[in-house]
Amino acid sequence: MYRIINENEPIYPIRVAAKMLNISVHTLRMYEKEGLIIPFKKESKHRLYSEADLKRIQCIRDTINQDKVSIDGIKRILALVPCWSIIKCSEDDMKNCLALKENLKPCWTLKHNNNTCTNRNCKECEVYMNFSNCHQLKDFIVKLTIKETA
Ligand code: SF4
Repeated sequence: MYRIINENEPIYPIRVAAKMLNISVHTLRMYEKEGLIIPFKKESKHRLYSEADLKRIQCIRDTINQDKVSIDGIKRILALVPCWSIIKCSEDDMKNCLALKENLKPCWTLKHNNNTCTNRNCKECEVYMNFSNCHQLKDFIVKLTIKETA
């Protein structure tokens, strides 16, 4: 009997993930370095990717190649996600949070000292998970703001 794999389960080593996406290992590493993707890291430091990671990377590829948005452009778009509203930060947390002022990088690439994100696992955070798809970004923000003003 075979086991059904969860979409978020890290199973593909970096070479396999690169092959499935038809890109180089170097490109995958570069997306990680730029903060566009957070792969699962084994104790040995080897990276593993899930189906959800592959979909996220494909979306990044489409945004770069079809929509002609640069990596810096994608990071700027992700920097606009109102994470403080999504995870409902307190006023004290917001005072200590760089994400409110940062225009160039997404919140999960910033240092979070002494606020609610300090010990959160960004890879499992709804901000990182839900706002990975640039094509759906506006839908999420619309839903978020309509819920807040309702
Ligand atoms: S836990 Fe990470 S991804 Fe979530 S809001 Fe905080 S910094 Fe952003």
